[in-house]
Amino acid sequence: MKKLKTSPPWFEPIKKSLQESSNHHAYIFEGAKGIGKSIFTLEIAKGLLCSSLPYASFCAQCQSCHFFDEGNHPDFYLIKPEKEKKQISINQIRSLQEPLYESSFLGANKVFVINPLEMMTRAAFDAILKNLEEPPNNSFFLLVNHRGESVPLTIKSRCTKISMNQPTKEEIKTWLTERLGNNSNLDLAILLSKNKPLVAAELANSEIEILRTNFIKEISDLIKTGSNLVEISELWSKNEKEMILKVEWMSDLLMDCLRHKFLSGNNLTYEDSDAISVYLADKIDSDEFFYLLEKTNTFWSLFNSGTNLRTDYQLQALFVEWSERVGLAR
Ligand SMILES: [Zn+2]
Repeated sequence: MKKLKTSPPWFEPIKKSLQESSNHHAYIFEGAKGIGKSIFTLEIAKGLLCSSLPYASFCAQCQSCHFFDEGNHPDFYLIKPEKEKKQISINQIRSLQEPLYESSFLGANKVFVINPLEMMTRAAFDAILKNLEEPPNNSFFLLVNHRGESVPLTIKSRCTKISMNQPTKEEIKTWLTERLGNNSNLDLAILLSKNKPLVAAELANSEIEILRTNFIKEISDLIKTGSNLVEISELWSKNEKEMILKVEWMSDLLMDCLRHKFLSGNNLTYEDSDAISVYLADKIDSDEFFYLLEKTNTFWSLFNSGTNLRTDYQLQALFVEWSERVGLAR
């Protein structure tokens, strides 16, 4: 997907309030993945660096704004997991110490963005604690944290937390229509993304219907025969993003099964997998259900936040759990 150029409209009120007064030296921007926090944070950074407008507003004209747009602002530091690694190391935090305590190149603010915050190692957290406790003048920390991912309390307590809410379905639809024009996949994409606009945008442009149809077929086969276990583990492993989405659908399927069991099928997340969730509701008992849900969600969190474990092996193990508990062939 093309990168966002400006932060999405649903963050406007938060942006306005920060643009009127950004007095704190460290912020944690916390919210669900895929709602536009990264671009929002960059705009706040640009504003803090801009030499003509106060607080977190930017003019888009000054030298600082130009440097920022070209990606070579000398007082801007973006810390993210190193390539091929899933963590932010203590060395990356150590490398900030010099610029932090020296004066800025352009004589104004210095901004340090860490994204995502939860990817820092324990040692990296310890190292940055002192910086957050006694921040040097004119230095700002903007820390991005995905909701549900834990960050030590010692870090949180030294920052101002800003909660970034998910936009409504209507907001997403308006925004996507402006960006993508009329796209017949929009409603399905929004539904399947669970109201995460960036994910929905990506889905709307992909062959989402085929992906979903294949998913339903693959899971039905898994339940019916279990014979495709190795095959689908290999198939799903080829595209990690799609794989994570499909595992999320597996979890949703279990939740729908619960809705059938106890709520007479009201408020189902998905109608198209109804035959499977009805079947599961009949077949599975509560213990097995919670066991599978836990296994499935653990798998999802592990891969969603990045792990070095081998995808195909782990997937196969998950499918075996499913096949043993809900498979017809068991
Ligand atoms: Zn400017």
